[in-house]
Amino acid sequence: MTVVKVECIRGNIAEQQDMDVIVNAANAELLPGSGVAGAIHGAAGPGLAEECRALAPIRPGQAVISSAHELPNQHVIHCLGPVYGVDEPSDRLLAECFRNALLLADRHKLRSIAFPAISTGVFGYPLQDAAAVAMKAVSDTLAELNSVRLVRFVLFSDEDRKVFEQALELESGLS
Ligand code: ADP
Repeated sequence: MTVVKVECIRGNIAEQQDMDVIVNAANAELLPGSGVAGAIHGAAGPGLAEECRALAPIRPGQAVISSAHELPNQHVIHCLGPVYGVDEPSDRLLAECFRNALLLADRHKLRSIAFPAISTGVFGYPLQDAAAVAMKAVSDTLAELNSVRLVRFVLFSDEDRKVFEQALELESGLS
C-alpha cells in the first residue's frame, strides 16, 4: 500500500504553491462567494468562475474538478459541504466530500492535495467534529489511493490547526 503523509498547517488555501490540487469549500452554484471560495476565485481570476458555470450546480458531498487558471496549482477540486443542521446526515455528507475529492485527485494522477476545513465557516459545522470526520474519511480512503502521497489540511488560525492536529493524532489509521 502507498504511504500517504497527512499534515496540518496554518495558512491560506489559495497560497499552496507546492500542491498539485487545492480543494474549494464551494457553494452549489460554484460562484466566488466569501471565505475559501472568495480567496480561491480571487487568486484564480475570472476564468475559474467561467469554467465552473458548466459544472454547476453540485449537491452536498459531491466533488468536481477544474483547471487552476492563475493559481500556482494544476487543478482545483470543488466540494459542496453540508450546511450543518440542514443537509442530513451531515457527517456522512462531509465525509463524502473528502473521500470524493481524494478519489478524484487520484484518478487525475495527482500526488498532493490541500483541503480547507470544509463546512466549518458559513455552513456552521463544529470544528472539532468536522476535524474528526475529515481524518476518518482520509483514513478510510487511503487503501484506494495509488497516486496521492500528501494530504494537507490548511487551517486559517493556529487554534484551528491545533484542533485538526489533535484529530489527526486520534485517528489511529493515520499514525
Ligand atoms: P463553508 O461555506 O464550507 O463553511 P467557508 O469558506 O465559509 O466554507 O469556511 C470554511 C473554513 O475555512 C472556515 O474554518 C474558515 O475559517 C476557513 N477559511 C476561510 N478563508 C480561508 C482561506 N483563505 N484559507 C484557508 N481557510 C480559510
